[in-house]
Amino acid sequence: MQGVCKKIKKNDTVVVITGKDKGKRGKVLHIDSKKGRVVVEGVNKKKKFVRPSQDAPKGGVITLEYPIHISNVMLFCDKCKKGVRVGFEITGDKKIRKCKKCNKEI
Ligand SMILES: [Zn+2]
Repeated sequence: MQGVCKKIKKNDTVVVITGKDKGKRGKVLHIDSKKGRVVVEGVNKKKKFVRPSQDAPKGGVITLEYPIHISNVMLFCDKCKKGVRVGFEITGDKKIRKCKKCNKEI
């Protein structure tokens, strides 16, 4: 639960830094902090066959985002226009997440 998992939160914009989706940017849809995995919108999409159900009476093939390891993504910084490392700054009882490059609060 320590470290990297806390640096990335749900709804953050992240960039994929390795693998077949390298360079892709997307929103974090889900985080599995126990397994250290994240699901990112539009990243690691795979086809999945579904049985007929109420939502899809005929069944069929859908594309679904599959989780990737959290170390494969970096938080996207608006100012740097790329994936960056983040650090924390503690001011009083507030913890601020900052881009390590430009110091912008993220
Ligand atoms: Zn930055």
